[in-house]
Order: sequence, then structure tokens, then C-alpha cells
Amino acid sequence: MAAWEPAVLPDLLPLYYRRLFPHGPYGRWLSYGGVEKNYFQRREFSFTLRSDVYLRYQSFSSPQELEKEMQKISPYKIDIGAVYSHRPSQRNAVHMGAFQAQEKELVFDIDMTDYDDVRRCCSSAEICSKCWTLMTIAIRIIDRGLVEDFGVKHRLWVYSGRRGVHCWVCDDAVRKWSSALRSAVVEYLSLVKGGPETVKKVNLTEPIHPFISNSLRLVEPYFEEYALVGQDILGSRESWEKVAALVPEPLRESLLLEFPKKHDSVQRWAVLKSKVEKHKPKLHTVKEIVLQYCFPRLDVNVSKGVSHLLKSPFSVHPKTGRVSVPIDLQRLDQFDPFAVPTISSLCNELDTPNKEDGEKENEAEPGAKRRTRDYKKTSLAPYVRVFEEFVEEMDKSRKGERLKRSDLQGDF
Ligand SMILES: [Zn+2]
Repeated sequence: MAAWEPAVLPDLLPLYYRRLFPHGPYGRWLSYGGVEKNYFQRREFSFTLRSDVYLRYQSFSSPQELEKEMQKISPYKIDIGAVYSHRPSQRNAVHMGAFQAQEKELVFDIDMTDYDDVRRCCSSAEICSKCWTLMTIAIRIIDRGLVEDFGVKHRLWVYSGRRGVHCWVCDDAVRKWSSALRSAVVEYLSLVKGGPETVKKVNLTEPIHPFISNSLRLVEPYFEEYALVGQDILGSRESWEKVAALVPEPLRESLLLEFPKKHDSVQRWAVLKSKVEKHKPKLHTVKEIVLQYCFPRLDVNVSKGVSHLLKSPFSVHPKTGRVSVPIDLQRLDQFDPFAVPTISSLCNELDTPNKEDGEKENEAEPGAKRRTRDYKKTSLAPYVRVFEEFVEEMDKSRKGERLKRSDLQGDF
């Protein structure tokens, strides 16, 4: 594959926003049924332009106007902010202090760079198929917690386009959550504590909370293949010393004597487990190691603030050219970040005429209708379908709620 060249962005972005960006479902998503007055109009968008010019507090009277603006200025990056008390573009016309962030999706940002102390395959911005399993595990754990422990329904998981994932929780009630409530939820979902200087980042106490046992159950199917085989966390003296540092003395000493006699990480892990279980059955050392190596590491500040901006789904990542696409949870284990289309590959697909399209284009039906379906001819199509299903699911439950309410009113 040819290396990505950001210099082509100015040529490709206009084409992307005109023929590929899924403006229809995108506008439907952010309008939330048009139930609340001027909801879409009060939403902040921000655009990063070529040469790093950053435009905050953009707002639009309709999804169509937003679409026009995207096509006009071809932003390098689009971020979505909060829904404010007033239209963000008119914030200077209201009294000081009156302009307030009121609502936003609860968002999560999980970035592979936060796992550098437990990854052996890559570091910083690099990712590979081996460490991507960490994102798969993170999505499984956070998503289960959100659905089963907090009762949320509408989550959109998105690949960031580079080295991580985002989650947008869109339920009507959740969008109204205060910062304090968001902080409490993020706190509940966080286990790995401390910076680079903290050796032991997970400390469990009796009794183990159901959230933790449920999380461990989700890690388990991945642990051997991911941590012992893929990352080989007990594969060399340097790496097994890091693991042994999480085991209390005097067990640690005996493990360090035992490890060199074994062949691989799988065998060494078996030794560690049996020794801990035999000599320290009351401790949760094994669970703590598993969690320190595999449990999701959230960027808490992104989730806490109501006004925090987050990169929009379907924005192109300027550093990789990859589109920030929704992830299908039904096929989560098959998701491959390296298979996600880039803006160049998509534009190439548009240029390659296939026979069917050639015939259609001759049928004297040029214009809007054909253009809106352009992405369906490309490898962006399956990702847009995931997005459409998510938006439809929200529409459906909104209608369900309305019916329930009108039934209740009928009873009086
Ligand atoms: Zn890697």
C-alpha cells in the first residue's frame, strides 16, 4: 500500500464532502427527532482548516446548511461540541454568563498511547493487529457496563481513524447529565490508577464488585492469545520482572527463580497462577495482573466535561487519511483498523467506473439523486449502514416513547 500523503487532502476533501460524507443520516442523528426546540441549531461544531486554522463555535440553522458549509470550506477535521443555551455562532450577542453548555452525548475516548507500559509490539501512535485486541476488550467492557449497569441504550462506537476508539452515548436522558454525574460514571468505569511511576495500578479489595467480575469474564477469552502469546508478557527477563513486580514477596523471589526454567509465557503464567493460588489464596494478584494488562484506560477529562469537543464520526483523520467509521458491535472481533477505507481509496473507487454504474449514468438521471448514493458504491457503504441502523434504532424508540405517552394521556 502506498504511504498516505496528507498533501492530497485539499484535492480530495471537496469530493469527499460532496459525494461520500453521509449527510442524510448525520443530520438525522444530530437533530434527535427535532423534538426539542432548535436543538440542532444550538450545537457547536468546530472545524480545523488547512494550515491548522481552528474555527470554534460554528453553528447552523439546518443540516443542509451544515452540509453546504462543509462543501464550501472542506475542513481537515470536524469536531462536535455541546448543545448550548443559545446558538454558538451568536454567543457574542447574549449577556455574559448566559451562554452555557447544556447538553451533550456522554463520550469516551480510548487511546492506545495510554497502554504503552503494557504493550510490547508498538509504542506511542503506532498500532498493529496484536495490540488492537486491547480496543476490542475495552469496547466489550465499557459497552457492557453502560448497557447492563447504567441502562443506556443508544451507543455509537467509532474508530478514531488512527490509534483508538470513541463512544457516543446518545440516550435523551444521558445527554442531560451534569458534569458531576459524568465524572461519577467514568470513575465507576475506571480501575487502572496512577501514572508511569506507579508500579501496581490495580488494587482489588474484598468483596470483588460485580462490575469487576463481569469485566474479568469478558477479558478471559482473549487473555492467553493476546497477552501470553501475542504480547508474550512473560517472554523475556525484562518483561517477566515487570509482571513479578506485581506479586508480593516472598512469592516474587520464588517466581524469578522458577521462570527461567520454563519455555514460554503460557508455562510461566501457569506457574504464577498455581503459586499464588497455593500460597496466597486470599489475594487477588492474578486478577490484578490481568486487569493491569488488559482493562480499558479511559481519557477521563474527555468524558467529564459537557463542553468537551470530540472528533466527529466520518471526519477524516488528517494524519492517516482514514475515515472515522462506526464499528459494528455484532462483528467486533472482525473489525480491522487497517481495512478501514482512506479518503484516497474511496475517491479512487468513485473514479473507477463499473459497468452497472455506467449504464445507470446513461439513463438521463443525473443530479442529486445519484449523488446522494455515491458512498453506496464504495467500501464506505457497510460503515454507513451501521450508522443508519443506529439512527433508525433511535427513531424507533422515540416513536415508542411517544406512543406510550399518548396512551397514558388517553387513560385520563
Ligand atoms: Zn501493536
